[in-house]
This record gives sequence, structure tokens and C-alpha cells, in this order.
Amino acid sequence: MLSDTDRIFTNIYGMHERTLRGALARGHWDNTKSILVKGRDWIVEQMKASGLRGRGGAGFPTGLKWSFMPKESDGRPSYLVVNADESEPGTCKDREIMRHDPHTLIEGCLIASFAMGANCCYIYIRGEYIREKEMLQLAIDEAYEAGFVGKNACNSDWDFDIFLHHGAGAYICGEETALLESLEGKKGMPRMKPPFPAGSGLYGCPTTVNNVESIAVVPTILRRGPDWFSGFGRPNNFGTKLFAISGHVNNPCVVEEAMSISFEELIDKHCGGIRGGWKNLKAVIPGGSSVPCVRGEDMKDAIMDFDYLRNDLGSGLGTAAVIVMDNSVDIIKAIWRLSKFYKHESCGQCTPCREGTGWMMRVMERLVSGDADKEEIDMLFDVTKQVEGHTICALGDAAAWPIQGLIRNFREEIEERISNRKMTNVNKALAAE
Ligand code: SF4
Repeated sequence: MLSDTDRIFTNIYGMHERTLRGALARGHWDNTKSILVKGRDWIVEQMKASGLRGRGGAGFPTGLKWSFMPKESDGRPSYLVVNADESEPGTCKDREIMRHDPHTLIEGCLIASFAMGANCCYIYIRGEYIREKEMLQLAIDEAYEAGFVGKNACNSDWDFDIFLHHGAGAYICGEETALLESLEGKKGMPRMKPPFPAGSGLYGCPTTVNNVESIAVVPTILRRGPDWFSGFGRPNNFGTKLFAISGHVNNPCVVEEAMSISFEELIDKHCGGIRGGWKNLKAVIPGGSSVPCVRGEDMKDAIMDFDYLRNDLGSGLGTAAVIVMDNSVDIIKAIWRLSKFYKHESCGQCTPCREGTGWMMRVMERLVSGDADKEEIDMLFDVTKQVEGHTICALGDAAAWPIQGLIRNFREEIEERISNRKMTNVNKALAAE
């Protein structure tokens, strides 16, 4: 288990003061200038050496992403945009940073922006996060007042402005290019890539979009060194990570743990075990609603990191939002509910997603009642394959994967329901004769 001295987020439960005074007492903003004077290249190299992979779901190496930003400006400004639109069902980790430990995020914004030659940073926060927005804005105001951000931030000769933008509550605005469109005041619709944001992002200028947690861990990594950070987890999966565990555990929680912790340890140590015991575990969605679900018995010994969940279980770590479901769950209905969500959140600009999400949801609806033919299971699987990878943004994949996971892992249950329904229909017809 991760020791308290190795935790990056020291106020994740809001037990201590969240103001600047509390943040200073916990070591944030401690001579930030000494980090900045080491220069842009040093910071990017340290981040690369730490092995940090983006915490927003995709797991792209953060230092590498930063290195795509232009070294010299061609006259256009550069921007850092922090994605705080945490809207994936099950995901609730960034809100704890923003409302309880906001200063580590703001300090991270300064350092990351400096490393990418950006004098300006926008944090795009989810529309529903009202209190989080208030807390974060208070912290930004405090940082301005203390001279940590603004002109000559931290006496570093670097001018840095930070703005908090409140979204309007659309899931698709968590997609980085839709987020940029929304930030520009347009409808939140994903852009075709390329061009990638590092070449042409916000207002057509070089931009990096990073998740809240990815930026909030930066100051601690630079203070304690990349070797410390890469001392946790398996190769290619280094560091500590916030896990948000919800569903049928005895104590749902958000907790910081070392990457590659086993699922069993995570649940037993922090969540008081599965409701009704391990035998009662039916399924787990290990990384937020868009990744395929896994059977309970396959999850028990799972290693909670990017590579194991993808390569060994055909699922993903995603945002590490772990949704636990016990035997009381109607898994077909649970996945239908996710299909309904993705259908509702599709922006509608590409055909496979606009038409496919509705079609998949309607078939799922019939699978819930069993009012379908068994051949339709394969047909549904085929359609998910036609949606996956054929859309402008990843929402198409996000809609397809939960259904694929259901069919791969719980096909018997779907078939049984169809058979039962047919039997009931036959019995009803006989009774009516
Ligand atoms: Fe919009 Fe869906 Fe296409 Fe993404 S995949 S751009 S949400 S229609």
C-alpha cells in the first residue's frame, strides 16, 4: 500500500485547509522559481524521464506531448488548456483535486505552461461542477494576490495568466478538440485531426490539452525527481494514480495508490471488500464507462495499469474509474444504460456515430427484455465493429466497447434471456388457445 509520505495529493478528502495558507503548509508553491530557472528543456526532460502517462484516459506520455510544442514562436502565442470536463460516468477524481487541493493544480499549470512557452492557460471545467469552480477560482485569486501567477510569476520574469472557463454540461466537450471549439465560443463539436492541437489548437495556435491530474502531479514529480515517481508501478506504467471506486463495494472512495496495484488489494484495503464478499462479484468496468466490462472472476487478480488491463483483459485503465457490480446487477440493462448515454451525447456530425449509437441502443433495449433473435447478437457485434475506429472522435469507440465487452463476457446471459422470453411467449400463446 502506498505510504502517506509518498502521496502527491495530501488533502484529497478536504480534511485540511484548502486555502493558500494550507497549501503552503503542505509544501505547494515552495520556491517554484527554482524549478522554473532550470529551463524549459530540463522540465520536459524530467517529465519524460518520470514516465508519466496522461491521466485523462488515453495514457499518452505527458513529457512527449509537451515536446511537440514549438520551441520558438512563429509569432503565434502558445496555450496550455487543462481539461477539467470530467464527465465520463464513474469518473470523479479531478473534482477532488479542484475542490480540496486546487493549488497543486495551479502551480502545475504555471510550470507546464512555462515548459511549453505558454504565457496563458485555460482550465475548462465541467458545467455541473459549481462548487469546484468556486473553490478553484478562489485559489486562482489567491495565487494572483500572492504574485505566484500574473506578471513576473513567482519572480521568475515569466508572465503567466490563468483563466477558468465554465462549460455548459456536454459530455462531448471533454474531447480535446470539441473542448477547444467550445472555448472559442462555438458549438462543442470535435475537429478532424490532423492538424493536431500542438500545431493548430486554440484560436489556431499551438496548444496542449492535458487532464487535471496530469498537470496537478507535475510540481511534486519535479521536486521529488523522476526516479521517485518511476519507482511506483511496472515499466511503462509508472507513478501513483487516483482511483475512483464506485458501485458495490462496502466503502466507495477516491484514493491515491501506486500504479499496478492488484485489484484485490485496491478493493480490500481501501473499499472494505466487495458487498457480499468476493463470490458476489459479477463484473467490473475498470476504467470509466467507455471501456469494456470484465467478468468478476477475471478481475480478482488483475493488475491495475494501462498495459495489463488492455493486453491481458481486453479492457483499459481509462481514467481509473472502477465501477464494481455484484450479482444483483442486470448486466445487460447496465450496458444498455450506457448505450443510451452515448446515444444522447453524440454530437451527430458523423454518420456511424449518429446513426450507430441509436441503432445499438435500440437493439440493446430489446436484448434487455429478451425480445430478439440470437442471430442479432452477432449482428450487433458487427455493427459495433463498423462504428469503432470509423468516426471523427473517440465517442464512437466509447459507445461500441461496452457492448463488445458485454457480448464477449456475458453472451450466455443474453442468450438465456432470449430463450426464456421465447418460452414465455410460447406458453402465453398456448394458454390463449
Ligand atoms: Fe460527434 Fe460522435 Fe462523430 Fe464524435 S464520433 S464527432 S461525437 S458524431
